[in-house]
Amino acid sequence: MGSTYHVYPTSDLVEHDTESEDCVCGPTVEHVPSENGDGWIVLHHSLDGREMKEKR
Ligand SMILES: [Zn+2]
Repeated sequence: MGSTYHVYPTSDLVEHDTESEDCVCGPTVEHVPSENGDGWIVLHHSLDGREMKEKR
């Protein structure tokens, strides 16, 4: 039995779905093996542009 952890930006403009991987931000799912089984980290992305390095 594994665990799923959600990592998401706080105070983001949108509400993140931290219950599933089907969030509007298109989170990245990383596999993390552990003693208790497979673990998963769901990395949510900020939608307010903080992660945008390229500006136009
Ligand atoms: Zn999200």
